Amino acid sequence: ALHDTLVELRGNIRVYLRPKPLLASEEGDSVFAHDPYDDTVIAVPSKGRSFLLEKVFTSKASQAEVFGEVSALIQSVLDGHNVCIFAYGQTGSGKTHTMEGTCEDPGVNQRALGLLYEQTRGADNMSYQMEASMMEIYNETISYTVVMIFFYDHPNQISRAARENRVTASTSMNERSSRSHCILCVTVEETNLVTGTRTKGRLNLVDLAGSERVSKSQVEGARLKEAQNINRSLSCLGDVINALKNHHTHVPYRNSKLTYLLQESLGGDSKALMILQASSHPDNINETLSTLAFGQRVF
Ligand code: ADP
Ligand code: MG
Repeated sequence: ALHDTLVELRGNIRVYLRPKPLLASEEGDSVFAHDPYDDTVIAVPSKGRSFLLEKVFTSKASQAEVFGEVSALIQSVLDGHNVCIFAYGQTGSGKTHTMEGTCEDPGVNQRALGLLYEQTRGADNMSYQMEASMMEIYNETISYTVVMIFFYDHPNQISRAARENRVTASTSMNERSSRSHCILCVTVEETNLVTGTRTKGRLNLVDLAGSERVSKSQVEGARLKEAQNINRSLSCLGDVINALKNHHTHVPYRNSKLTYLLQESLGGDSKALMILQASSHPDNINETLSTLAFGQRVF
């Protein structure tokens, strides 16, 4: 009951955790211990820490199970809400898996487009216009925008175009790590053909750049500047969500391109969901704890 009250008070900002399973090739045991009776608590026993969130998935959670916990939020776009869903975590923790997934096993992006498509298709006395654009923020620059307007075309086309255009570069961590924030923005405008009333909602699906701390000894030059930009924009995002949660009169949207771009969709009666992605492997325990600490700050 106390937890329900807290959730009620927090209202429009939620935080989930999706741990990435250990791969067959990885040695060691998972750093996580799940409470078998409570899917809002996750413990990291070796560090004596536990965290309370709105929802903790097991590492076995399927794409469909994850989507089951976000579909109501996506549905609310049709009622005119602005919604942001973020995947946050270190490179390799499963952000892209959760948001984009694969053609055979699609993630939130594709399923969300499919859901909106199904819900708006053939509704009596209603006309819908859906518009989708992909944006990438790389080094505090919005590097491209593709806008697609469609009525009832198949939604599959969008994510595919997006996947082919991401800026990736190698780091010591992961050859194909994403050093950019990738945003799929979908607006849905509903017109009631009888009354003429219009409702517009916007959905922002954000695959954030890797949150790992990069030290000067690991990288230099352009790569260091890139890392500093990522760290700065992620901490700005935390500041904005924190300010909204605590009802501060000043919300520092202007401190990063990401928060500036999402200004209209964060705050007011908008809804935000942060999906924390974390490795279960002991080698990544410090990054995992820092991801959980970020989540706790905005929870
Ligand atoms: P990120 O985008 O955070 O860098 P990825 O989504 O690219 O991480 O995931 C890294 C690797 O781990 C990929 O090969 C991906 O398929 C795999 N992976 C991620 N999450 C899961 C999961 N829940 N189950 C199985 N494999 C996963
Ligand atoms: Mg990725």
